[in-house]
This record gives sequence, structure tokens and C-alpha cells, in this order.
Amino acid sequence: MDFTLSNELENLRQRVSKFVSDEIMPVEADPNSFDDHENIAPEPLKKLREKAKANGLWSPQMPVQRGGLGLNTVGMAVFYEEAGRSRFGPVCMNCAAPDDGNMILLERCATEEQKDRWLQPIIDGRVRSSIMMTEPAPGAGSDPTSMLTTASPKGNDTWVIDGHKWFITGAEGAEHFILLARTSDDTHHNLTTFLFHRDDPGWEILRRIPIMGPEEHGGHCEIQFSGLEIPDANRLMGVGEGMKSVQIRLGTARLTHCMRWLGMAKRAIEECLEYVGTRKNFGMLLSEHEGVQWMLADAAMDIEIGRLMTMRAAAKLDSGDQARKEVSMAKIFVSELLHKSIATAIQLNGARGYSKDLPLEWMYRYAPQAKLVDGASEVHKMVIARNLLSQGMDFWSWD
Ligand SMILES: Cc1cc2nc3c(=O)[nH]c(=O)nc-3n(C[C@H](O)[C@H](O)[C@H](O)COP(=O)(O)OP(=O)(O)OC[C@H]3O[C@@H](n4cnc5c(N)ncnc54)[C@H](O)[C@@H]3O)c2cc1C
Repeated sequence: MDFTLSNELENLRQRVSKFVSDEIMPVEADPNSFDDHENIAPEPLKKLREKAKANGLWSPQMPVQRGGLGLNTVGMAVFYEEAGRSRFGPVCMNCAAPDDGNMILLERCATEEQKDRWLQPIIDGRVRSSIMMTEPAPGAGSDPTSMLTTASPKGNDTWVIDGHKWFITGAEGAEHFILLARTSDDTHHNLTTFLFHRDDPGWEILRRIPIMGPEEHGGHCEIQFSGLEIPDANRLMGVGEGMKSVQIRLGTARLTHCMRWLGMAKRAIEECLEYVGTRKNFGMLLSEHEGVQWMLADAAMDIEIGRLMTMRAAAKLDSGDQARKEVSMAKIFVSELLHKSIATAIQLNGARGYSKDLPLEWMYRYAPQAKLVDGASEVHKMVIARNLLSQGMDFWSWD
């Protein structure tokens, strides 16, 4: 239970922090850096990604032999939190969702041939990727086993896909797709995972769904499949192992969301510290009012608790444990503290907190998705309760 970072990791943390401060923050501060969907525009993104690569701050989650930094989950927690200080940070260092989780899944589960074809271009930053699970009602949402999109065998070596998906992040700009589809009616093994390319015929984007917050590159899309043919060689893992692949992806991907959100929550508080330290009313600085101190203390405590929960889950994942309850608890807690920290920062900035002069209103519109993506909070509570009910008092056992 030693929270000391190795010299190597601390050095990397400082380099990420400096890169965000020196290179990314000035770009983020320029309104011309944004695209029409309130994310970083292609030109500044390209330049910053090249700089990040040149500075050795690229694909932290991927093995060194494939061009990444080879960090374990604890190392990723340190890196991603620093990167998350800027809204542009993670995507500039190739550790933003959904590519991040997609790379992790492919790295763990694909064959070497599949990795060369489908994973390596994402690691290199040459293509982007999407994962397709969610469907409009009555199809799969919180419960993937209710999936209606089908993969039917054609001959011995081809699958034919028909169905309807939505909220597929990044689909408009992605080239490599990971698709979950139903291959049988077996209760536990009814899903299979496939890989396909943007140019394969038999599918289309119906629309880019307008959302309340800023968008990831490529938007959140509604998709129709009508006879997309996928060779069996592009099946990821075994037939019926789709849920297993989802669990492998989401275990770490949910936690990497927490890591980035902690960086954003810290940034929100950073955005009010100068104001409360300089703005005077009723004869003293805002920071000298006890009521303000309590708000800051609550935010600071929440963030620190979230960091400890995230680190604990990261360490468990690194030990080979699935850390289901730890990841679920961290996901719920961090998604809530993200929202609360931003709200506190808006409030303490007074009227300017409500303006677009600060990044806080952007963050406030972004934050609600944290309670939905990769599992709604209520579903994570279900997982936690199941663990408590089956483990009893051992729920709280130390390792
Ligand atoms: C910004 C954004 C990006 C996304 N990106 C992707 C993507 O790239 N790929 C992808 O496949 N999907 C994506 N999704 C979809 C996301 O994974 C789903 O929204 C999520 O899994 C919940 O499914 P649902 O929306 O169908 O909600 P439903 O399953 O319809 O549930 C609705 C609500 O009911 C409640 N609820 C559900 N189950 C329970 C329960 N057992 N007990 C108590 N309450 C419950 C929860 O409050 C939940 O929010 C994205 C969503 C958003 C908002």
C-alpha cells in the first residue's frame, strides 16, 4: 500500500503536465481551435498529435513494441489524469475514448494478424475506430443480451449482418469498427464480436444524433445494417464470446474514463482558485469566507476519494483481478464528483462561471454523459449490490 510513484513514472507525469501546460492549453484557449462540434479542429489536432509523438507521449496504454509506452493500469491512471486537465489532452496523446478502449480490447483479444491489420493503424494514429453495441429500444442498451442485430452464417466462412445501432461514438470519422451482434439464442453466449472496415458495403450512417454537450470526433451516430458481409477471419474471439470481449474492454475502459474525468474535475476547481483568491466582498476575500472554504474542501475531498478508488481498482486490475465491484464503485463516484466539482466551480466564479469565457459551461454540458456511457450508474449499483449479497462481509476484505 505504497502510493509513491517510481522515478520513471513521476518523470513521465511531469512531462505530460508540461506538455499540457505549454503546448495544449494555449491551443485550447484560442476559440479558433474548435471545430463545429466544440472539439479540437483537425489542423491543430494534427499538429499536437505529431508533437506528442515526437515527445514520447503517445499511446500510453499500448505495448512498446507496437509504438506505445507500455504502461500498466496504475501508470495509465497517472498519465490520463494529467492529460485530462485539458479537454484536448487525451485525444492529442491517443488515449481518448473510444479508440482507447478499442485498442485495449484488440491488444488483449485479437490474433497477431488481426492486430497488424486492425489495431496497428489505430496505435499509429492513422485511423480512428468505433465500437457498436447499443441499439434503440427494444434492442440492447444496459442489457446487451437483448441485442437484436443479427449475424447469420452464409456458407462456411462469412457472416451477414442486419440490424440497427445508435449512439455509436466516432462513427462518422472511423475506419475500423468493432461490432457486437447476436449469433444464437443461447442465454449466456448469444453474442459474437466482429471487425469491419468503413468501406465494406451493406451498412450506412442514418444520422449524427444531436446531443446536449460537446461531441467526440465523428459524433454519436445512428447506423443501419442491411446485409453487411463479414469474413469469418474478421471475427474477434470465439463464436458466442461477445459478452466476454465486452467485459474485457469495459473493465479497463470504464476506469480510463474515471482517470480522464479526475483530470477534468481538478481543472474545474483550478478554474475557480484564482478568482476566490482575488475577489473581495463583505470586507474579505472569497477564499476567506468559511462557506466558500467548505465548498472547496468538499470538492477537494471528493476528488481525492475518487483518485483513491480509481487507483485501488487500477492496482487490482494489474494484479489480474477483474475488479468488477471496484471499477463500478469508481465509475459511479467519479461521474458524480465530476458533475459536483464543475457545479462548485461555476458557482464560485459567480456570473463569469456561467459565461463561455471559461471552459466550465462546456464541461457542465459534457458531464451528464459520465453517468451513462459504459453503463448507467444504476446498473453499476446493481453490480455492487450483487457482489455484496454474494460476498457478505468479505465484500470489504483486503487483498
Ligand atoms: C455520449 C454517449 C456516447 C456513447 N457511445 C457509445 C458507443 O460508442 N457505442 C455504444 O455501443 N454505445 C454508446 N453509448 C450508449 C451507452 O453505452 C448506453 O447509453 C448505456 O449503456 C445505457 O443504455 P441505454 O441508453 O439504452 O439505456 P437503457 O438501458 O434504456 O436504460 C435507461 C435508464 O434506465 C435505468 N436503468 C437501466 N437498467 C436499470 C436497472 N437494471 N436498474 C435500475 N435502473 C436501470 C438507468 O437510469 C438508465 O440510464 C453512448 C451513450 C452516450 C450518452
